[in-house]
This record gives sequence, structure tokens and C-alpha cells, in this order.
Amino acid sequence: MATIHTLSDDVASRIAAGEVVERPASVVKELLENAVDAGARRLSIRTAGAGESLIEVIDDGYGMSREDVERAPKNFSTSKISSADDLHRIRTYGFRGEALASISAVSRFEIISSPDTGGEGWKVAVEGKAWGEGQPCAHGKGTTVRVRDLFYNTPARKRFLKTPLTERKRILETILGFAMILPDAEIHYVDDSRHVLDLLPAPSWRERVASVLGSSTMKHVVPAENLGGRIKIKGFVSLPSYTRANRLQQYFFINRRADREKTLMHAVQDSFRNVIPPKRFPVAVLALDIPSEEVDVNVHPSKMEVRVRDERLLFGTVRHALKHALSGASESSMRVSAAREESAKTGPYGAQYDTDSRPADLFRKGGAGNVISLEGRVRDAYSDYQRNHPADGAASPFNPPLSLNAGETPAGTKEVVEDLRRKGISDEGLFWQFNDSYIFIQVRGGIVIIDQHAAHER
Ligand code: ADP
Ligand code: MG
Repeated sequence: MATIHTLSDDVASRIAAGEVVERPASVVKELLENAVDAGARRLSIRTAGAGESLIEVIDDGYGMSREDVERAPKNFSTSKISSADDLHRIRTYGFRGEALASISAVSRFEIISSPDTGGEGWKVAVEGKAWGEGQPCAHGKGTTVRVRDLFYNTPARKRFLKTPLTERKRILETILGFAMILPDAEIHYVDDSRHVLDLLPAPSWRERVASVLGSSTMKHVVPAENLGGRIKIKGFVSLPSYTRANRLQQYFFINRRADREKTLMHAVQDSFRNVIPPKRFPVAVLALDIPSEEVDVNVHPSKMEVRVRDERLLFGTVRHALKHALSGASESSMRVSAAREESAKTGPYGAQYDTDSRPADLFRKGGAGNVISLEGRVRDAYSDYQRNHPADGAASPFNPPLSLNAGETPAGTKEVVEDLRRKGISDEGLFWQFNDSYIFIQVRGGIVIIDQHAAHER
């Protein structure tokens, strides 16, 4: 008959570790969270062998003293909370004090840190249960964590890993998630000695989003926001004319944490119902700010899961923001935010290093909402032109008076515009006619100029 016995600490900690450390990307996530919690502005990530041989994260955060370096990898060692009540006031990513303990239980682990710029730091190495003493080690202000041979002592875990390619993709997605939400941070990522990502602090949130999504994608994206309600949203969404085959370009954040809430995905998909083909997905980057009364905090081992109490409110708010963004777009408003764009410090969650202020306070109005319609801009340009080129002398074939005719249908152009629309070249079918002859048609990414008389003859 079997008898019950208590598992050794060693075995127990490896089992527990499995909850936090599922795969290399989860290690990357935990280490980046710690770095951000430590106020780092520069994050440098290095991986080898799809994260199995090496994951290294170097930050320039506030670092640790010798005692803290020795304590950090121990179970339930945290500097972030001290009582259960604190759980409701958490502004840091971490609070359980479990990540480093778990990671170090299933890897050959090394942490080096220094709390000041003197260049002297402390290093602790952990291998399985074998804890090293703190050793002096040269290090600038900040922390380096090196995780080698992940799961070397838990072969079963290893078998759950997907192909190296998939694991690398997950690592990259994790890093891009942080890049997206931390426009102020400088981020470098080297994988197997190859530079994958080198991001300098971005001047605005939009620019950081553009460097993650790519500037060609950004051309098809409009700002989406809703700052009035209990749930606040800031973000970007692609026009129905630009969709993807999967959700890889959908990024959701709830109170700074990357999130994969089903409700969010459904709300996005629902906003595009009937305007995009089935099995296509819009690009979406949405940062939500939800007050603590509206969320249940479920303290899941690998993260703090934020469950929004009122899912219908969440659904409705997202849908409203997106519908609004898209209807603005179909009135062919070009949202020109470059001129007065918020600085990265005020978006999407305001000053990322000011952890004392509530995100909600920083969730300000303004910025991306400055809407200047394309039509307005054409009119402005036209009157500028007239001001700068006053009609001198009589009108003649060589000096015709310039006339602007917006929106009306010059003979013969309707077909052209319709044709462009059918071919998917022009979304709006918006056009202007100058001097009763040249027709300017807005198309995606530019303008087509047609000589009306030539078109008519054709
Ligand atoms: P948690 O983040 O939940 O507190 P961790 O196991 O991730 O737990 O980290 C334990 C503690 O080690 C943290 O509370 C923090 O004090 C310290 N620490 C970890 N990583 C860093 C870092 N990069 N910079 C400064 N301190 C760190
Ligand atoms: Mg942590």
C-alpha cells in the first residue's frame, strides 16, 4: 500500500516553478517586469538557443544591495508588498516574490546587481538548490539576470516546449508587448548574436507603435479612443481595408499588463462585422485603463489576472471606441496628430516612471484627437495658394482662374471613381476637381490625378 510522504523542498519547488515558468518566453516576461518595476529605462535582452541555452536581461534600474541580491531568488522574497491589503494597491508588475525563485529552481541562474554607479556590485549564482554566497562583481547601476540551461533538471517540462522557431516567436512577441507599452524605454534584443530589435526612446506613443507595427501598416491605422467613460481606452485600429490573416498584430493592455481577454478580441471582431471578410483580423493596439473597483484581482501564479467585472461594459466601451474611430475614418477625416502629438510621457499610461500617480489621472484627453478633415486641408491649401498667387492680369488660357470643386460629380468621373473603388484602390471615392479639368481622387496612400477631358474621351 502507498504511504503518504511530503515531497522534498527540491521536488516541490520544481513543481511549483512549472506554474510560473512554462516556457522561455515566460522567463523573459518575468525578468522584463522586474526590470520595469525597478524603474529601468534601458532594457537589453539576449537569448541563445531559443531561450533554452541562455536568457539574459540587463537593466539600468535601481539595482540591489548585497543582502537583496542574496534574498531575491528565495521564495516569497519581494520588496513590493508586505501585507495582504497591499494586493489592492499594486502598481508594480510583481508582488508574489516567486518569479526568481521559480526560475532559479529550473535553470543555472545568476544575478548581478549594483545599487549605485560606483561600478561595484554583487553576484549570486544558484544551481538547483545550491545557493552561492554573494560575490563582489563589477557592475554598473542596475541588474543583470542570466538564465542558462532552462529546464535542465526538469526534462518533462522540456518536452512541452514547441519548436525553437515557435519559442523564439513567443519571446519576440513578449518583448514587442513591452516595447509597445513603454515608449520611453530603450530596448535592445539580440538573439543568437543577431540584432533583432534596437529601439531608442520614442518621441511619442504613436511612433513607438509605428516602429513595432511597421510604418507601412501605420498608414492604414486610425486612432481609437474613449476617454469619457469608466473604462478608458487609447489606441489604434486599422481601417476595414487593411486586415491580417491572424491576430498577431493585435495588442491589448489592461492597466499596463499585456492581456488576451476574450471579451476584448470579440469586441474588436464585432466592431468589424460585415465590413471585413470572414477569418480576417484588423490590426489593433488598445491600452485600457480600468479603475480597481471594476476589476477582480485574481492572483494567478504567473501573473495578476485582471478580470473585468462588467464584461458587457468592457465589450460596449471597446466597440464604441472602434465604431467611432472607423466612422470618423469613413467620413474621410484624416486625423492629423503629428503637429500636436502628445509626448510619450503622457501616453498611453502617462509617465511610466511615475509609479505613484494612478494611471487614470494620467489618462488625459487630447493628443491623437485633433481631427482635421482632408477636405478642410485641401481647402486650406487652396486658399493659401490663392493668397500667395494673387491673380494678376486678366484670366487667359495661360493664366486660368483656379477653381475648386469638391464633392460634385464632374461628367465622366463617376465611372472612374467607381472603378477605383471596386478595385479597392480608393476607399472613399472622395475627389476634387480643379479648374473644371483636373480631378484629384483620394486613394489609399495618395492621390490619383486624372485629366478629365482625356478620361472623358476614353
Ligand atoms: P516580485 O517581482 O514578485 O517581487 P521576483 O521573484 O520577481 O518577485 O523578484 C524578487 C525581488 O527581487 C523583487 O521584489 C525585487 O525587490 C528584486 N528584484 C528582482 N529583479 C530586480 C531587478 N531587475 N532590479 C531590482 N530589483 C529586482
Ligand atoms: Mg517579479
